[in-house]
Amino acid sequence: MSQIAPVMRGYRGRLAPSPTGFLHLGHARTFWTAYQRALAANGTLVLRDEDLDSQRSKPEYACAMVEDLRWLGIRWQEGPDIGGLYAPYQQSRRRDLYVEAWRHLVEAQLVYPCSCSRKDLARSAQAPHEEDDEPVYPGTCRPAEKITLPASPIGLNWRFRVPDGEEIVFHDGHFGRRSYMAGRDFGDFLIWRRDDLPSYQLAVVVDDAAMRITEVVRGADLLRSTARQILLYRALGLDPPAWYHCPLMRDETGRRLAKRHDALSLRRLREKGVWPEEVISMFES
Ligand code: GLU
Repeated sequence: MSQIAPVMRGYRGRLAPSPTGFLHLGHARTFWTAYQRALAANGTLVLRDEDLDSQRSKPEYACAMVEDLRWLGIRWQEGPDIGGLYAPYQQSRRRDLYVEAWRHLVEAQLVYPCSCSRKDLARSAQAPHEEDDEPVYPGTCRPAEKITLPASPIGLNWRFRVPDGEEIVFHDGHFGRRSYMAGRDFGDFLIWRRDDLPSYQLAVVVDDAAMRITEVVRGADLLRSTARQILLYRALGLDPPAWYHCPLMRDETGRRLAKRHDALSLRRLREKGVWPEEVISMFES
């Protein structure tokens, strides 16, 4: 009998960068891991441009991320055809899906309108990366009564009501068993913003489900958000994917790599004559 490597049937992974700056080594390592896991499973990889934050997203960064990913050798297999290349799916074009999910959550009385601070608002379209995660919401605007269903989310902030005291447990492919308590480790979180944008949390769940993603590979700074997202999957009647969070890359002072580390962006490294193979060997050593 021939030795055939076990194939995970129908594996679907995704790369989900936000076009708010150039990709750096930290992104590259996570995306390389996502690519390798999809390859090993003989699966499909999808590229999604998380461009909801119209203030910070720039088309030139979206173009750069496609170019940088390809330079590194990463390939994905789906999306609109642009001359032999697959263009990324763009969140900014998927509003109808997010509105439908909002409506479902309002009908189920799982979300409520809230007048929260500007600071919270500014953050919610972005994924909360570790040190910029929001404080637990004290529940000031939580209604005691049922709310009536408005025709659209426009003009209000909307928060998801978390089940206080419930432990959310999941298995992570890298970190093992993780557990977070709703109401203690995170509070009622925004799913829609007054300026008419779905939050990162809502959009990412709607899209991962719609794109039939079977495993989410991303940075460890989003572990806590996974617990929030599991609640959204349940509320929307959707099956969550498997999770694989990658350890974060840090600079010499211990800070998570971010857009401020321009010298470690793939762009700059490439300009300095670094080869993609050299970048990849850094991850594999
Ligand atoms: N777009 C998010 C970011 O770049 C990541 C979202 C995710 O992987 O869930 O921070």
